[in-house]
Amino acid sequence: MRVVVVGAGFAGACAAWMLRERAGAQVTLLERGPSPGGMLRTLATPGGVAYEYGPRVVSVFRGSPDAIPFIRGFVALEERTIYQGTRLMPDWPVVPFPVDRASLARLPCGEAIERELAAIREGGGAPGERHLRDYLETSVGPTLTRLAFEGFNRKFWGRRLEDMPADWGRLRRLERIATTGDYRLPSVAPHYYPPGGFNPLFDRMLDGFDLRCGVTVAGVGDESRPIVSTDAGDIEADLVVTTAPIDALCGYRHGRLEWRGYRVEIEERSGAQSPPLGRAPDGVPFAWLYTPWEGTPVCRTTDFGVIHHGPDAPQRGVPSVVLREIVDDAVPMYPVWWEDAKLLRYLEDVVRLPSVVPIGRLGLYKYTTMDSTYAMARRLVDVLDEYLAAGARRRLELLRDVRGDWGN
Ligand SMILES: Cc1cc2nc3c(=O)[nH]c(=O)nc-3n(C[C@H](O)[C@H](O)[C@H](O)COP(=O)(O)OP(=O)(O)OC[C@H]3O[C@@H](n4cnc5c(N)ncnc54)[C@H](O)[C@@H]3O)c2cc1C
Repeated sequence: MRVVVVGAGFAGACAAWMLRERAGAQVTLLERGPSPGGMLRTLATPGGVAYEYGPRVVSVFRGSPDAIPFIRGFVALEERTIYQGTRLMPDWPVVPFPVDRASLARLPCGEAIERELAAIREGGGAPGERHLRDYLETSVGPTLTRLAFEGFNRKFWGRRLEDMPADWGRLRRLERIATTGDYRLPSVAPHYYPPGGFNPLFDRMLDGFDLRCGVTVAGVGDESRPIVSTDAGDIEADLVVTTAPIDALCGYRHGRLEWRGYRVEIEERSGAQSPPLGRAPDGVPFAWLYTPWEGTPVCRTTDFGVIHHGPDAPQRGVPSVVLREIVDDAVPMYPVWWEDAKLLRYLEDVVRLPSVVPIGRLGLYKYTTMDSTYAMARRLVDVLDEYLAAGARRRLELLRDVRGDWGN
C-alpha cells in the first residue's frame, strides 16, 4: 500500500511509523516546513541556546500511557519536576499554581479565598452546571474565579465566563487550582524532557522514510485514486493520511475555523542573569509562571533552563531561554469550543473522500498533547480497514472515536 502522509509533526510521524510497522505500507511524508517535528521542533537562539515554541514536557495528560515507552524507543526521557507559579495581580508575589494555601495567606485576598473554599467544602454540593462562571464560583469561589480565570478568559478566549460552558471547566478539571499541596499541573503523572531536545525523536522515528520537506500540499482530490496536489507537482497514493488543517484542505469552503494562540518573545539569559521565576514552598523553582489578569498580553512565561537542565539550573547559572507567550489569534494553537457545527460540515466532506483520513490537532481540530496524539494515531491504524470499507455515516462515528470525542 502506497501512503502519503501530509505533515511530519508528531501525528504524521506516528501514523507513518505505525502504518509501516503494522501494515508494511510504503510511506511518503510531505512537510511544508524545512524539517519534521511541527509544533514539537526544538529551536535555538542565535547564541545556540535551545527552546521550544510549543511543548515543554512529555507526560500522560489525557492520552495513553503507552506513549511514554513508545517515545523511549527512540530517545531517552529524563524526569523533570515541573511546578507552576502564578502572579495573580501585577504587584503581588508569585504563588504556586494550583494555589498553595499558606502562600495565599500572604496575599491581600488570602482570607477571602480561604473563607470561600471552606464554605464550599462545608456545603459539599457538586459544581454548578449553568456556565463556566457557575462551575468555577461553586468549586473554587468567586475571588479565585475573578483573579485566576475572569481576566484570562477575556484576554485569551475573547469570552466572558458566562459565555463558556461548564463542561469546559469539568474537562480541564479547573477546580484543581484550589488543590493544596500538589503543585504539579497540568498532569500529576511524571513529566519528562528528552535531553538534547525533540529533534532527535523525529530523526530516529523517520529514519528510512521518504520524507520530503519544503513541500506544501494545496489539496487532495479523490476520484478513482487519491491525488495530492503540491507546489512540487501531483502525487498519487492508495491512501492519504492528512494532519494539515482540515479547513485549508477543503479550500475553506465552509469558512475558516477559529483558533486562539500565542506568538512568543524570547530572551536569552546566561550565568548570573538567570534568577528563577519564583520557587514553590519546597524550594523547587517554577518552570513556568502565569500572569492571568487582563491588562497584560503575556499569558505565561517559561524558564527553559529548569526544563532542560533540571531544578538546580538557576543556581548553576546555565544559559537558558526565558520565553513569553503573548496572545495572538493569528497563531493556530488552541481550537475553540464554539466551532462544532462548522467542524462537522468539514468532517462530512472528508468522510466522502474514499481514501483520505484526517488526524492530529489540525486535521481533526482537537486540543491534543503528545500522549493523546500518539493514542489518536494508534486508534486510526486500529480501525483503518473498517474505515476504508465503511459508508459516510459509519466513518463519522469512527472518526469521532479516533478523535476521542467531538468536544474540545
Ligand atoms: C503552546 C503549546 C504548548 C504545548 N505543550 C505541550 C506539552 O507540554 N506536552 C505535550 O505533550 N503537548 C504539548 N502541546 C501539544 C503538542 O504540540 C501537539 O499535541 C502535537 O505537536 C501535535 O502534533 P500534530 O502533528 O498533530 O500537529 P503539528 O505539530 O502542528 O504538525 C502538523 C505538521 O503539518 C505540517 N503542515 C500543515 N499544513 C501543511 C500542508 N498544507 N502541507 C504540508 N505540510 C503541512 C506543519 O508544517 C506541521 O509540521 C502543546 C501545544 C502548544 C500549541
